[in-house]
Amino acid sequence: MTSSIDASKAGGSDRPHGKTRVAIIGGGPGGLFSAWHLEAKAGDACEIEIYESSERIGGKICTGQMAGIGPYEIGVAEIYDYSRLGPDPLRDLIENELKLDIRHIEGGPCVLDGKLMLTVDEIGEHFGALAESEARRFRERCAKMLSPEAYYLSAIENDNAHPWQRLSGHELLDREIDDEAARRYARVMAHSDVAAPPHLTNGLNLLKNVLMDVDGYMDIFSVVGGNEQIVQRLADQLTARINLNAHVRAVEPLSDGTYRLDMLVNGFAESTVADYVVFAVPLSAISMIGLRSETLRQTVDRHIGYFDRPAHYLRATLAFKRPFWRERIDKHWWMMDAFDGVCVYDESARQELGPFGVLSFLIAGNAALSLANVSDERIEHMCLDALAPVFPEAPDLIVNRRVHRWMASVNAMPGGARARRRVENHRPNAERLPGVLIVGDYLFDSTLNGVMDSADTATDIIVADLLKTRHAARKASSAPGETARRCGVLQQFFDAATLADMLATAFGIEKGARILQFGSESGELVTALRALGFDAYGFEFDVDLAHGGGERNLVGECPDLPFDAQFFDVTIETGLCRTPPEHLEETIASLARVTRRGLFLGSITADMPLDLVDRYDLLDGIETFGSRWDWADRLHVHGFAHALMQSERLDRVWRRAIEAGAGAGHWCEDTEGVLYCFYTPDETRQSGAELIRDAAVSA
Ligand SMILES: Cc1cc2nc3c(=O)[nH]c(=O)nc-3n(C[C@H](O)[C@H](O)[C@H](O)COP(=O)(O)OP(=O)(O)OC[C@H]3O[C@@H](n4cnc5c(N)ncnc54)[C@H](O)[C@@H]3O)c2cc1C
Repeated sequence: MTSSIDASKAGGSDRPHGKTRVAIIGGGPGGLFSAWHLEAKAGDACEIEIYESSERIGGKICTGQMAGIGPYEIGVAEIYDYSRLGPDPLRDLIENELKLDIRHIEGGPCVLDGKLMLTVDEIGEHFGALAESEARRFRERCAKMLSPEAYYLSAIENDNAHPWQRLSGHELLDREIDDEAARRYARVMAHSDVAAPPHLTNGLNLLKNVLMDVDGYMDIFSVVGGNEQIVQRLADQLTARINLNAHVRAVEPLSDGTYRLDMLVNGFAESTVADYVVFAVPLSAISMIGLRSETLRQTVDRHIGYFDRPAHYLRATLAFKRPFWRERIDKHWWMMDAFDGVCVYDESARQELGPFGVLSFLIAGNAALSLANVSDERIEHMCLDALAPVFPEAPDLIVNRRVHRWMASVNAMPGGARARRRVENHRPNAERLPGVLIVGDYLFDSTLNGVMDSADTATDIIVADLLKTRHAARKASSAPGETARRCGVLQQFFDAATLADMLATAFGIEKGARILQFGSESGELVTALRALGFDAYGFEFDVDLAHGGGERNLVGECPDLPFDAQFFDVTIETGLCRTPPEHLEETIASLARVTRRGLFLGSITADMPLDLVDRYDLLDGIETFGSRWDWADRLHVHGFAHALMQSERLDRVWRRAIEAGAGAGHWCEDTEGVLYCFYTPDETRQSGAELIRDAAVSA
């Protein structure tokens, strides 16, 4: 989201004492997460209204009740847990903020041609040794093609450079697996996560879905008592107004930069005006909203055109007198080759359902589409028929069923054909419609985790605008020369000794290490680091700020750094945010050239606490304003990777930051903030783009 500071283009209200009005269309997870993030980041600076078409919030997080039996999941069934790899904001929200109990779930068995295989090891028994070795080899190859770290980060540049991005999933399976049974096994295991047949998605998306079942990538959990509790607890915490039965039917940009929303509320026409409109609805639902301006229509059409790869689900839930399968399958889910590859969840293994056994068939892709107009009864028969080869007793034990259809509800190629920068996806026309924001799971990976990241991104954009508007207002109302230029901001939060400790933990440097501060102003930090025994240099490009810096505080023009390649062990950058956008890429390339072990991102960023930015007037002198994730996107392009992916080192740096006062309202609010400050050029070569290139060469 880096952008040049220009308050006149910001969509935020310029009413100095008025709150910024944010209208969120959609009360599903995307809308609720957006409100939650915005309240956390902007306090009461925004007046948030959520408009939800239906009579309930939660969208596709939906837990049903089967009379006399108990709860079952209608939509979201499993939540992905990345906490082994790094900060996991969704698990953190569910467990720590919403105080919900979670239960990890496990699966893995597969039924192919009526043969039950509990693990990949059993393929050989039924389909021969070649099938087993091919199935194993494919999984190992997938793991080699994307490390857990690279999977977790899913950096745009790495995704776009990945050789499997340019293949269809179908081509990939054909190319990589010779044995027919092994190929079908791989296809079946991934199909219900992809929600589309392999020819409609790309190889990278298929690869990511294969890795979901490989040890070391992610764990899976659900909420004890039903996933819908996430929705209820979240709504209880929000101060945003939630309007139910409020179907937004049209949006119109007004000449003063605001937006008018027309809706049907409980059947009556109403309208409202807002500074920002957040479209937090599935891609297919955007097409149902009238767009009353040519610019808006074209903008939204382009957005839809880029992402429109509809994928489908149909969930059939069957209740039985008893869980007859348990003697043979004791897992929370398994796959079957029926319906082109279906995931069967044992709902009764995660919910307390008395003597009953409940199986939920997540039918996906074209199979789901073709059943959209088929009766529930017929679908029940098909499910029983699919069970028959392994469980012939099923028809005699059935007591109830529910069928839910979810056509075009997810995306077959999340992220788009070629991943784009997040800001482009979330604010599709920054120039002419800055107040139009889009939130969607399909902008990331079509999961709840993805829509959480999307809400985070969109709300960062709003908060950045708020900050710019406030800063411009303050500037305009102060007399010339009244606002003093801030200096040495980073040191106000981390003194030199703390910073040195953090760098030592992150990058393994010791006294004597050569350190560059880029954007060193008058060189105070450089002097302090030298006093601590480091061979520190400064480089400042603003002559007015560089005064009195001593001979190690060099003054020069951006982006030319007068140092040899890899001259510095570590670079502390505090100047990128003061670099004009037109010089950014070259400047980052220069920093990458001179840095050997690590880079600390010390620029002012848009996701810092609003109060903090206001209190210290941190926007003074800022030329390029982006959130930490946006800086990360830019640094990845130049070969930097996150340095603290190993959570043990991240924890140690975080503990040191806490000693320096980090936490709510501070420079670093949480471990994610720390993760996004430390980068290394070396690890990139092992875990990101280089790994992918190596794998491609060996292919
Ligand atoms: C069957 C199924 C299973 C899934 N399983 C998983 C899973 O196990 N794990 C996982 O991570 N993800 C899963 N997903 C994906 C997950 O459901 C989505 O990522 C998530 O629901 C997206 O949230 P959202 O708010 O963008 O959309 P939605 O959940 O669809 O919510 C959108 C809301 O907007 C409202 N709306 C639409 N149009 C308008 C309008 N014009 N005016 C006002 N309101 C409007 C809708 O009524 C709805 O409430 C599954 C999806 C399906 C369909």
